[in-house]
Amino acid sequence: MKDCVVAVVGGGPAGLCAAGQLQRMGVCTVLLEKHRLGGAVRLAHRLDNCPTMPHGTSGEEAAELLARFALSAELPIRAGEVRRIAYMEGRFHLYGNTELRAKAVVLATGLRDKVLKLPPSLHPFLWTSHEIPQASGRVLIVGGGDVAFDRALSWRKAGWDVTLFHRSAILRALPSLVQEATRLGVHRCQGRIEDLRLSASGFSIPDGMETFQRLVIHIGREPDVPEITADGERFIPVAAGPDGECRIKGLFLAGDLRHPEQRMLSLALGDGMAAALACQRFLSDP
Ligand SMILES: Cc1cc2nc3c(=O)[nH]c(=O)nc-3n(C[C@H](O)[C@H](O)[C@H](O)COP(=O)(O)OP(=O)(O)OC[C@H]3O[C@@H](n4cnc5c(N)ncnc54)[C@H](O)[C@@H]3O)c2cc1C
Repeated sequence: MKDCVVAVVGGGPAGLCAAGQLQRMGVCTVLLEKHRLGGAVRLAHRLDNCPTMPHGTSGEEAAELLARFALSAELPIRAGEVRRIAYMEGRFHLYGNTELRAKAVVLATGLRDKVLKLPPSLHPFLWTSHEIPQASGRVLIVGGGDVAFDRALSWRKAGWDVTLFHRSAILRALPSLVQEATRLGVHRCQGRIEDLRLSASGFSIPDGMETFQRLVIHIGREPDVPEITADGERFIPVAAGPDGECRIKGLFLAGDLRHPEQRMLSLALGDGMAAALACQRFLSDP
């Protein structure tokens, strides 16, 4: 097992910002990322609320800027998933593709899509990848929040005929997203998943003539955390202090994971910075 001073788990905006600042302060840091650098921001069809990004930057461009930052800052990055973190005798032991021991950990693993239990007949149509396939018909996106609308715009721009399917008449998405979806011809329909019916070449919505070939679920996001134990006991990480500190000394949360209801790139960047500074304080006075 290799040693480092701080392990940063997650290479999204929060983790990259934390690792960059720690490296800048001369702290021996390793960043672990299971997919691609940049995190969830890559999924956004467009960003228009981050003062450090030109207005209208696409999520893909923003993620590439973040990845470029990691390269130019020569951040020590290890590819691979952290599956388990065990805190024993004042040290964090990280297990997964890479095994590491660290004095402190910044956990910036973000959120993942909630899973919806579907009738088996709908499984062949379910699309769970974030990559949008080549346009070939109609897609039904289940959800009525920001992420559902944002993803609907990306599918629409990729050439798909898109319908948003939501349970409640009250939409939980930003007005600008709703307006753009309407302008681009994203259809909307109210109903429940139990109402979907199989048809000859796909599935259909109640009273609808159209047949859909793909089903995408965006009904909310939940913390994406590896298993954590503290001296053998299961530990659920919750930020207890102002800079993302947890009840385990030396463990800091940053980004969406710290405040799952406030999902913003700028907040994640600020959190990463705050966690790095708090880490340094902890290391100098543990
Ligand atoms: C569709 C969509 C549109 C959005 N639009 C906007 C917008 O317009 N404006 C805005 O401000 N914000 C937007 N956001 C929110 C923004 O993307 C997030 O707030 C931000 O990315 C959070 O950063 P983070 O670093 O906390 O987490 P994430 O970006 O989720 O990064 C977490 C990283 O950790 C990695 N990871 C997870 N588990 C492990 C593990 N066990 N081991 C190793 N690595 C792991 C993941 O692969 C990921 O790269 C949008 C989000 C989505 C999904």
